[in-house]
Amino acid sequence: MRLPPNLAIQLGFFFGGLFCAIALHAQDTVTVSDCPGKLLPVQFEVDCSHVADSALKQQCPTFARNQACRVFFAYRDITGINLEQSCPVFKYEIYDENQWPHPKGEGGLAGHCGADILSDVALKIDSPIGTYDVHEILHVYQAELGAIPQAHILFGPSMAEARKRIGDNKGYWNAMTQMKQELARNKAALDKQPGVSDSACIAAEVYTENNIYVSNPAAVMAFYRKLELGRARDMNDRFRRFNRMYDLVSEGKAKPFLLNYCPAF
Ligand SMILES: [Zn+2]
Repeated sequence: MRLPPNLAIQLGFFFGGLFCAIALHAQDTVTVSDCPGKLLPVQFEVDCSHVADSALKQQCPTFARNQACRVFFAYRDITGINLEQSCPVFKYEIYDENQWPHPKGEGGLAGHCGADILSDVALKIDSPIGTYDVHEILHVYQAELGAIPQAHILFGPSMAEARKRIGDNKGYWNAMTQMKQELARNKAALDKQPGVSDSACIAAEVYTENNIYVSNPAAVMAFYRKLELGRARDMNDRFRRFNRMYDLVSEGKAKPFLLNYCPAF
């Protein structure tokens, strides 16, 4: 049972020089409906009623505020997507592992306009701005792209860029270091097993987007703006849309490489 809004406790949190209005409802739901100095087009609700540890639960307002006032706007700029057109409210349900309602093995599960996420994943990020999520929310943003070749396409550059923009510089540099190491490994794996296939094409696309981003971080915004939207389920159609986008962003450099691995261009 949720208390009616007039019984909700309106609390102002002064945090990092930012003033932000947050409502704490019954059952540990935190609602953020505005941000310092700017309109918040999507209301964020974070339900922490499935988190037992009180110290961990205290991270819920920080998480909610970071999602609403930092991560939401970072991805708005990166993707150019206005999420409010499909999602007026974004809901997070945070669960301890022993209450997780989905099969084990996933740290989170994005759905329509929201995500379920494990408390260990959502509430324990050590960063200068406190804890946050840049993964599950990106799935919700990417639902606007239509059919995609792979569930985590564009995730490397998008998440790294989001970390930088929200003020987690350490997280950003860790992501960049990891991406550079993966680039070398993935290139070696692709060179070792040449040939056209769906899996090789996906690996080549991920290699391409990471490679472009590492040399030109601004390209991440172009990825989203140059991509044609399309709902066709056909795998070759998805490859074509993404390959054409990589080629546009790289000014023709990506095509010869992608043609070695992709069944469609
Ligand atoms: Zn995912």
